[in-house]
Amino acid sequence: MLAAASSVALRAKSRASTYKVKHTSENCECQMVSFDLGDGSECSSWIKAGHTPLIVRVRDTADGSTKWKLISSHDVLDGSLKKYVAMSHVWVDGTGSVDGNSLMRCQLNKFQNAAIRLYGGDSSTDEPVPFWVDTVCVQFNGHLKMTAIRQMEQVYRDADKVLVFDSGLQRVTLDMPASECLTQVEISLLERTPLDDSRGCFCQIIAFPVPRWDQ
Ligand SMILES: [Zn+2]
Repeated sequence: MLAAASSVALRAKSRASTYKVKHTSENCECQMVSFDLGDGSECSSWIKAGHTPLIVRVRDTADGSTKWKLISSHDVLDGSLKKYVAMSHVWVDGTGSVDGNSLMRCQLNKFQNAAIRLYGGDSSTDEPVPFWVDTVCVQFNGHLKMTAIRQMEQVYRDADKVLVFDSGLQRVTLDMPASECLTQVEISLLERTPLDDSRGCFCQIIAFPVPRWDQ
């Protein structure tokens, strides 16, 4: 049993040392954005209450700069659920993390812009729709990590929409026959892990961005 446990730990360590986070384009030099979901943080109190953190981009009206903020999935006053988009992505595309709840700024912008466009909005002017992505919203380390993982099914169930990002689907173009598009979507879903499968099963609406849609 100990040997098995140490083997799992070694495999995890090996994955962590070789995993590479990616920018959305090769020439991007943006910075990593980190979030505090530690045991004493405000986010941890939301997770304890059975809620989840959501990410939203906020604009400083004074200087026009943008920041990233975590908010609770539920209204603090009346407990009502907020409308949000859950992102389903594959770590091989570089949107995972091996050293904390963090993501490249360009990847956060990609997800946020896609969430806005999913409702027909303009990503440069419209009020951002909050989104959830496991890399940021599931505690990386800490006592509530397993609690947050167990809540993932509910997170996808409660999401207004689920948006699937998969670089494999970049082969799909808008002028492709519908049957060919559906085959590519099916392949993408089949390639996902059993845990990932829950994302599609429990959500109300699932959407797939096509090339240039999320730019
Ligand atoms: Zn970048």
